Amino acid sequence: MEIRVLGSSGSEGPGRNPTAFLIDDFLLLDAGTVSLSLDLESQTKITHIFLTHAHLDHIKAIPFLVDNIVATHGLGKITILSGRDVIADLKRNVFNNKIWPDFTLLPSSHNPIMRYQVVSTRKPVEVRDYRIFSTRVSHSVPAYGYVVADSSGEALVYTGDTGPTDRLWKRIKGFKVKALIIETSFPDEMSRLALDSGHLTPSLLHKELRKLPVPPDHIYITHLKPYYREEIERQLEKLDGIPLTVLSDNLRFSL
Ligand SMILES: [Zn+2]
Ligand SMILES: [Zn+2]
Repeated sequence: MEIRVLGSSGSEGPGRNPTAFLIDDFLLLDAGTVSLSLDLESQTKITHIFLTHAHLDHIKAIPFLVDNIVATHGLGKITILSGRDVIADLKRNVFNNKIWPDFTLLPSSHNPIMRYQVVSTRKPVEVRDYRIFSTRVSHSVPAYGYVVADSSGEALVYTGDTGPTDRLWKRIKGFKVKALIIETSFPDEMSRLALDSGHLTPSLLHKELRKLPVPPDHIYITHLKPYYREEIERQLEKLDGIPLTVLSDNLRFSL
């Protein structure tokens, strides 16, 4: 599994792109950044987008991506996957023929370039050689974390935006977690805001990691709010004995 970080920021600014992780060129986990980082040929290779939730920093590249793809006259087709509530929000609030066209009807209703697929937390979705499991996490809106597992049970786990959670850690039991991508949005002195808005700070992250049944091979930190990045990084360095990598955009790693 090859992972390319298109964006790993909790907001945006120069050199700081909103969240998106590209797996093996075809599968996206969140879509805060796509067409600003990938050329058109690479965009047409994306077939599946799993969304953790409908907040703008996780979906904002989809309208431009599908607009680009439709212009290629059939070179690409995209399935947007998430929980029923997230899909409903996208339909109602984005692809509603007001904010942006309904691309499930374009270029024609019988051969659209975009479709939706509701993901159940009870049953994995199979995409090529991967099985993708979802589970609810703790955010201010309905949100899901994902386990992307290969046939040998080795897995990438992605929390999306979440405060403290137990469901996701239950869900990963039995997998060999090669990489955990977990959010840390705010510094410790903002823990009240972090908890109220469904996010983590370095100290809250430390508590979450102690809940894990088996430590992952690698832990990658994402979704730092750009304004607090240096402060968060300083606090993460003080978490003794936990090897962490703070993600930066365009980083690539493999499992
Ligand atoms: Zn976010
Ligand atoms: Zn969010």
